[in-house]
Formats: sequence, structure tokens, C-alpha cells
Amino acid sequence: MNFLTHLECGMCGEVLPAHKVWNLCPKCSKPLLARYDLEAAKEVINPGIISRREPNMWRYRELLPVSDPANILTLGEGFTPLHHARRLGKELGFSTLYIKDEGLNPTGSFKARGLSAAVSRAKELGIKSLSIPTAGNAGGALSAYAALAGMEAHVFMPSDVPRPFINECRVLGASVTLIDGLITDCGKAAAEGVKKYGRFDVSTLKEPYRIEGKKTMGYELAEQMNWTLPDVIIYPTGGGTGLVGMWKAFDEMEKMGWIDSKRPRMVTVQSAGCAPIVKAFQEDKDFAEMWQDARTIADGLRVPAAVGDFLILRALRESSGTAVAVPDKEIMETSYLLGRTQGIFAAPEGAAALAGFIQLLRQGWIMNEERVVLFNTGSGHKYSHLWD
Ligand SMILES: *Cc1c(COP(=O)(O)O)cnc(C)c1O
Repeated sequence: MNFLTHLECGMCGEVLPAHKVWNLCPKCSKPLLARYDLEAAKEVINPGIISRREPNMWRYRELLPVSDPANILTLGEGFTPLHHARRLGKELGFSTLYIKDEGLNPTGSFKARGLSAAVSRAKELGIKSLSIPTAGNAGGALSAYAALAGMEAHVFMPSDVPRPFINECRVLGASVTLIDGLITDCGKAAAEGVKKYGRFDVSTLKEPYRIEGKKTMGYELAEQMNWTLPDVIIYPTGGGTGLVGMWKAFDEMEKMGWIDSKRPRMVTVQSAGCAPIVKAFQEDKDFAEMWQDARTIADGLRVPAAVGDFLILRALRESSGTAVAVPDKEIMETSYLLGRTQGIFAAPEGAAALAGFIQLLRQGWIMNEERVVLFNTGSGHKYSHLWD
């Protein structure tokens, strides 16, 4: 059904067979990327065929990692609306602002895309037990798809994660372990169980397929904009999987002749309380340093060290993009602005993207009439304590 051919290391270029189970590159411990036979794919599918399919991310299934359709685990993830944000735009004096609302995904965030792809593929490869360190949303999404597959899910979360995130995982049948520390500490705790019990580690970018699910945001954006891309994409960045995934999708689509070579300027937005990518971008570094004392209300952005840091920084630079940090206070303010103008109750990460946009508009980095897409990456419901 699909055109997956092999895996390739994003750093050293090592080539590996896709039918085996992999985490990081065995040579250099960097993320592996899925590669497809795009020449063959373009003979079989095209935008016209895709437009007649079900409105979920599996409409791009030839370019996703699952080879037997019977292994696809779907709860209706993807094909989220792209809104022309007219009222918000009017308030900001900017008429070409769009919002891709990922809060409508199963389990309330775009993590559903990545985990739908990764758990489906894990099932296909015969894996029975899954493990994840998470700031919140990835745990819920893993739990949901593992439940659907009848697989075990082991979720490791910081103990200060809001209750709704924990409760969601438990109701969805996962075993939840709370860790006194950050997501990086959860990673260490999860790694012990991986070693001891042979669980498969689905940490972001530490296995090759979550990014494949998230890249479908890039395919959808092109499809929803009539096979063109916007001028600017504003993305609240934690591990960077979605940003790197979209960047990969654009390349794939160009190789199949679906879009031309024009690319959006990619923008990373982080919280001022945890901005390792912004710092590395400004200092012209290829890798980011570990951020000390990471603190922000936007749990998904509380990622002090990202394994895919060099891939994020590469995409930002190749696209002539940029990276900005926004204080939590502004994130709170923009959440109300987005809510009262567009009727979207956004996760703080989505509100951060709006705060980043406003900063860049004021600096003159974004010009009038450029088409700008903001990603609201999740729903505000699980974080509703923030507005108490
Ligand atoms: C995980 C998460 C992010 C960060 O996503 P990455 O692709 O890992 O950078 C942003 N927003 C929300 C709501 C999240 O759950």
C-alpha cells in the first residue's frame, strides 16, 4: 500500500532497513527519518485522488509508514480546519492571518497524528508494549492508540502535570508513573523500564514514525491552500517534531510535483522560561544547549533539550525563518485575544504562537499581505486551571 523504502539518519546519513525496529541511529544516536520511493508514488497517487478520500491524515497513506491497511489505528486524527482569522486579523490590522486548529484532534492535540502513525507501525512490527516520557499531551495520545490496538502503554509524567492529563491516560488504560522532575527526568525513568522489560520507547524523534504522522500537517496545509504554501508558518516548538515533519513533507511534495520550490519562512516560538532553540538560533549554533531551570505554563514547550535540535535549526535557517521567545504573561493575554475574537479556546502553546506573531508583526519581520499560518497545537480544556 505504501512506498516506504528505508530509514536514513538525519545526521550521518546511515541507511537502515525499515522492516526492523529502530530507535535512534545505531552509529551516531541521532534521529532516523523515513524515506519513500517518491518516483513510484507519483505514478499512483496525486492531489485529485487524495481529494476524494476520507478527511483524516490517512488520506496520505501511501506516504505514511504502515504497509498493511489493517494495521492502521485511527480515531479520526488530522484534516483539522484552517480558519481565515478575520476578526483577530482586524484587531491586529492584518488581513491574511490563518489558524490551523489542531485542538480538534482526538485527545485534544496534534500529538494524535504522531502517535496514530507510530503506534500503528509498532503494531505492524509486532511490538506489544510501549513506553513514553511526556509533558502531558503525548501521553494521552499514546494511551488512546495503544488502547485501540490492545497494547500496553507506560506513561512517565512530571508530577506537577495538571490532573486532567494524568486522568486522561488512566481512563484510557495506561499505567502512569509520576516523576519528581522535568520531561528529561521522565525520559531517564522510562529508559529503565525499556531496558528491564523490553518496552518500546516512543519518545519524540527517538523513533522514526511520530514525525511521519506530524508531517501530514504540511500535506494538509498545501491541500487546504490549493497546493500552494503560505509565506510564513508560526509553530510553538518543544521537541520540534511538527516543524521538522512539515519541512520534510514540503520536500516530498515537491519531488512528486505537487507543489513548486517556494517555501514558507518557518518560525519557532518558545516560552522565555524555556527557549533553548531560540538561544541556539540567535547564537548561530548547530545544536542547542540544555536549558537550565525550565519553567513555563505551556507544558508542551517545557523541553529543555531536544534530540532533533539540529533538524529544527536547519529548517529555520534553510527557510530564512527565525525563532522568538515570549513571556508567559503574554501567552495568557493572547489566549484571551484568540478566544474572544475567533472562538478558539487554545492551549497555551497555541496562544504562544499568536504572541510570537504579534512580536514579529511589530518588528516589521512580517509584511502586510503575506499569508501567515499560526498553529494552535492543542485545546485549552486540559489546562483550564490556568484561567482560574
Ligand atoms: C507537544 C506539544 C507541542 C510541541 O510540539 P513539538 O512538535 O514536539 O515541538 C506544542 N503544543 C502542544 C499543545 C503540545 O502538546
